[in-house]
Amino acid sequence: MRTLDDLEVAGKRVLVRVDFNVPLDAGRITDDTRIRAALPTLRELREKGARLLLAAHLGRPKGRDASLSLRPAADRLAELLDEEVALAPSLDDVPDGDVVMLENVRFEAAETENDAVLARRYADLADCYVNDAFGAAHRAHASTEGVAHLLPSAAGRLLEREVTALRRILEAPERPLVAVVGGAKVTDKISVLETFLQRADRVLVGGAMCFPFFKAQGHEVGDSLCEEEGTEPARRVLGAGGDTLRLPTDLVAGRAFAADTETKALDGVDVPGGWMGLDIGRRTAAGYAEVIRDAGTVFWNGPMGAFELAPFAAGTRTVAEAVAESDAVTVVGGGDSAAALAGFGLADRVTHLSTGGGASLELIEGKRLPGVEALA
Ligand code: ADP
Ligand code: MG
Repeated sequence: MRTLDDLEVAGKRVLVRVDFNVPLDAGRITDDTRIRAALPTLRELREKGARLLLAAHLGRPKGRDASLSLRPAADRLAELLDEEVALAPSLDDVPDGDVVMLENVRFEAAETENDAVLARRYADLADCYVNDAFGAAHRAHASTEGVAHLLPSAAGRLLEREVTALRRILEAPERPLVAVVGGAKVTDKISVLETFLQRADRVLVGGAMCFPFFKAQGHEVGDSLCEEEGTEPARRVLGAGGDTLRLPTDLVAGRAFAADTETKALDGVDVPGGWMGLDIGRRTAAGYAEVIRDAGTVFWNGPMGAFELAPFAAGTRTVAEAVAESDAVTVVGGGDSAAALAGFGLADRVTHLSTGGGASLELIEGKRLPGVEALA
């Protein structure tokens, strides 16, 4: 993969694909982590004398949509870079300037179709191309893949760091390699789990991920979040998992998905009717923490419970603290896992906090990311 070290940028106009897909509340950015994550690349390019043309997407607009304008992101970037950032209303109207940002690339349907004409139009606006949008690298779109073939191109520092950290887990991990997989959607994460069952020394399962497994084992799951489509894959994994796979042995249940609901600690994993399992229990959390402490490498994706609700945050907190205190190489992926870590004040205590949920999972599964392949 080519990096910024391989690209001659002095005096050039560089098209930089960034991931500025930030959460907005009534036009205000509520978390600018993704914009900050691009700063090392943008600053390096500016210091090397490049003029920047930034491309990014925001949300899933159907055509032009003022509520998904990149104006707030451009303004925030201007503050962080301490430079003027002009916003180009369209590809036909790109102002001159040292730092210019294109409007939301997904205003054009041709973007997600990886349209060759659109890719050519992007290319005509610049001398070279840098992709720093790791969070969008699993998509073959005109601004993430098509244009990379039309200009001298390279990975930005963020994308480089993400790919290096994640590949290292697969290719040369310090042992023992421990994967902690939780969160809500089993069907999204089952193949990551299967990858780790082949490569990791321990796979610890938490969150709503565990209920299809318990169902497959014949346990009661009550009203727990339990995806029907997850049961068959869970059965398959149970058959293949051997003693690498660890499931919770106790749970915390609630009457409803709410902070003020009635709660109950379950010594076991059968969830009675009228209750839902919303966190791993204390014994499970302590056991997981011990495995994490002795690890050489930890990959964590997905909270251990409904951590947004105080009564069900303890399992995720115990795991997060163990990850933070561990001497292992620790890599955390997933938007909610990152939010949980940040909420506990531990975001800077891990080796690598991935900015790309879907992209990091696909890379771990061994899939090729089109946005990365195009830079080879
Ligand atoms: P990430 O964004 O880190 O990949 P996910 O999006 O897969 O994680 O899952 C996060 C969500 O899973 C959180 O909103 C959390 O409330 C929910 N969750 C975790 N455990 C449970 C559970 N036992 N029951 C219901 N929801 C859960
Ligand atoms: Mg999520």
